[in-house]
Amino acid sequence: MTEKRDLRQVFDQHIELTDYFTGFAVKRAKSVSPLPQKNQDGDNKTQLVEIAQSAKECRKCGLGSTRKNSVPGEGNPHARLVFVGEAPGADEDEQGRPFVGRAGQLLDKIIAAMGLKRSDVFICNVLKCRPPDNRDPKPEEIISCMPFLKAQLAAIRPEIIVALGAHAAHTLLNTEKPIGQLRGKFHDFYFDENAEPVKLMPTYHPAYLLRNYSDENRRRVWEDMKVVVAELGLEVPKGKN
Ligand code: URA
Repeated sequence: MTEKRDLRQVFDQHIELTDYFTGFAVKRAKSVSPLPQKNQDGDNKTQLVEIAQSAKECRKCGLGSTRKNSVPGEGNPHARLVFVGEAPGADEDEQGRPFVGRAGQLLDKIIAAMGLKRSDVFICNVLKCRPPDNRDPKPEEIISCMPFLKAQLAAIRPEIIVALGAHAAHTLLNTEKPIGQLRGKFHDFYFDENAEPVKLMPTYHPAYLLRNYSDENRRRVWEDMKVVVAELGLEVPKGKN
C-alpha cells in the first residue's frame, strides 16, 4: 500500500514539474486519479474504530432494537483484501464479531487455503445488525447501513474486495444479475467518482457452500480465490492448486 501511495506522489510531482517546465497546466482528467486516494483524516485504525462506534449506537432501522450486538467488522486496518458478507447470524450477534459461526469457520479455511491469516484481511458485512431469524436484508435496511460499509472501504482502501454471496455482490455492484453469472471475474468497484476503481470478485457465500457442498461448487469458489491470490501477486500455497 505504501508503495502505491508513493507512486501516486511521484505521479503528482511529475505533473507539477511538467506544468512548471512547459509553462502551462497539463490537461488531465480531474475526475480519475491514478491510484486510490489517500485517506484525508486520521489513520485507518482510528477511522474504523469511529465507524464501529457509530454502528453500535445506530438505530436508523428496526434491527437496532432486535439485535443483541452490532457487528461492525474486524481485521487489518491496512488490509489489501476485504471480504464483505451479507449480515450477522446468531453466533455473530452473540459475540459482536463477523463470521464466527459455521460459515465463518469455512471462510477461515478458505482464507488459510489462500495462504493468508484472518488477521491479514478485513471481514465485514453489508448489514451490521442481525436480521431476525436470519431473513434476507430488506432494501431499507441496506440503504440505512450502507454508509458504514462505504466508510469502512474508504478508510481501508483495499486493493481487492471479495463479495460473499448475492446480497453483497448486488449491493456493491448495483446489479441484480445472478451470483452464478457475476462470480469468476473481477468487476469495478468505485469508492467515489474521484478515485480509480478497485477490483471486486463476487463468489458464493460460505453458507451457500455449506448447504450445497458439491465438488463443483467448492471448485468454483476455489477458482475465484485463486484469481484473487494471483492478482495480489501472492502464490497459492503448495498442494492447493
Ligand atoms: N453470514 C454472513 O453473511 N455474515 C456473517 O458475519 C456470518 C454469516
